Amino acid sequence: MKVSHDRRTRSVRDDLFEHWIALICLIIISYSALLIAIIYRSEMSNAYSIIKHRNQAVNFFIEGYFSKIRNEVLLLSNIQEVIEAPYLGPKARKKTLKLYRTIEEIDPDINYVYSGYKNGLLLINNYTPPKGFDPTVRPWYKAALRTAPNASNGIPYREIKTKEWLVSISRVLIDKHGKIKGVVSIDTSINTVANLLKQHIERYKSLYSFVIKPNGIILIHHDKSLLNKRLSDITNSSIDLTKSSGLFSYTSNGSKKLGCYSTIKKLGWIIVTIVDKEEVLTPMISKILLSMLIVIIIAIATSWFFSSSLSKKIIVPLTELRKRVSTITTSEGDISPNYNYPNNEIGEIASDIEQLTERELYLKNIELKKMNRQLELLSTTDHLTKLMNRHKMTDELKKEWNRAKRYKTTFSLILFDIDHFKKINDTYGHQAGDLVLAEMASLVKNTLRTTDIISRWGGEEFLVLCPGTNLQSAASLAQRLKTSIEQHRFSIDSRVTISLGVYEFTNQEEDIEEMLSKADQKLYEAKRLGRNCVVC
Ligand code: GH3
Ligand code: MG
Ligand code: MG
Repeated sequence: MKVSHDRRTRSVRDDLFEHWIALICLIIISYSALLIAIIYRSEMSNAYSIIKHRNQAVNFFIEGYFSKIRNEVLLLSNIQEVIEAPYLGPKARKKTLKLYRTIEEIDPDINYVYSGYKNGLLLINNYTPPKGFDPTVRPWYKAALRTAPNASNGIPYREIKTKEWLVSISRVLIDKHGKIKGVVSIDTSINTVANLLKQHIERYKSLYSFVIKPNGIILIHHDKSLLNKRLSDITNSSIDLTKSSGLFSYTSNGSKKLGCYSTIKKLGWIIVTIVDKEEVLTPMISKILLSMLIVIIIAIATSWFFSSSLSKKIIVPLTELRKRVSTITTSEGDISPNYNYPNNEIGEIASDIEQLTERELYLKNIELKKMNRQLELLSTTDHLTKLMNRHKMTDELKKEWNRAKRYKTTFSLILFDIDHFKKINDTYGHQAGDLVLAEMASLVKNTLRTTDIISRWGGEEFLVLCPGTNLQSAASLAQRLKTSIEQHRFSIDSRVTISLGVYEFTNQEEDIEEMLSKADQKLYEAKRLGRNCVVC
């Protein structure tokens, strides 16, 4: 049986290894994608929730902070001494100023409490207005006129002398007759409020809040250069602020921001809280990398576990089976008789294949032995007479000669030849001659003892080896042969006789060639004496 592995270029192990790698990649990619999605969603929602909470807290703070100032403005705008200040004497004005100072002292959030009038009067503590100061052209005055009779909803403006940014809440002063006399205003420093809104919380350093008006104008911001600018000026996209609150994102100066806004209904202002997206994403990246590392480790570990168990149960037994079958078929090397295949289908198949291979070989061996025997028979037997041929007989002679020399025993040779065989051929034909040869062979075989060995020595010449037989016994055997042939009726209608030469191995120095030559001389002698006789 020939086992061929020529067509195979890859092993199952290689294929499995590739599948294993593909499986790991698939697991890693899909789990990583899932993890990234989950982490991104949760981190973003966490970030938005932080921004929303912060925004709400700032919303409450700003509402409380400015509602108080607004209430104070409302209260002041209803005081007669305040409304009528230009028409009252210095005493009354002093009283009003004292009231203003008291409010400033009590409330640390307030910078200035003051009122300006149509006639150019300005009632304010610790402040000397520059020459030609006209209160009616100041932004706080104009803002109050615009929103009259309600209080202005706050305007950021710069104080003329100190250049300090202030937010002013102002309201017109209306007398009994409904005439506007002036405007009362309370200023609070933007710095103080903006710094409070900028104070960062632990989680995000970039997080801060600022205040804008419904029209998008920035009212309170720690970056003073942005005050009075529109929100749309600093973002690349327009943000919809029409709802009471919402989330948004935008890019400003190349950096992405996440934001949240909510409206203070009472003031009409909008609180905006923003954070750099990068700051939200950075911890996310390390979380994602860590999770991916865990996924990779788990993927490798589980697939390693599965592949090693697969290898133990399938690959190793298959490889072992291949080796063992190859060893059996090529008969190169030894195989251990008891290899423990796994207790599964592969193990059963492997054992079956091994048994099948061994049985196949066993049968082939029997066939081979049979053929060898036939070959040997062919090479040692004469085809026509089925007797031993000359070649084989020579071997037998050598063996017997050696034995006789070693054990000092004897043996004899009988060489005989058919008389006038040429004549038989000529008379009855070559085929009839062949028949006579075959008939003669079986006749001689039946006459000889079982220990005697007969061979066809030449054309119609036969040699008998009689082991352990002396000349006398051999001579009587030859005589018996001669008689049985003489008396036998052959298939051809003619008498057939033979002449025989007998010779015994007596001289230890004599070799086989010499013995054969002596036997031949005796046969020649028998022919000479008239044939159909024995010469010893
Ligand atoms: P003798 O031995 O008595 O002197 O006479 P003979 O006629 O037998 O003499 P010889 O040995 O010269 O002739 C032998 C003949 O046997 C010659 C050959 O044609 C014939 N012969 C040899 N082998 C075969 C064979 O296989 N078949 C047949 N039919 N004839 C054979
Ligand atoms: Mg002859
Ligand atoms: Mg002859």
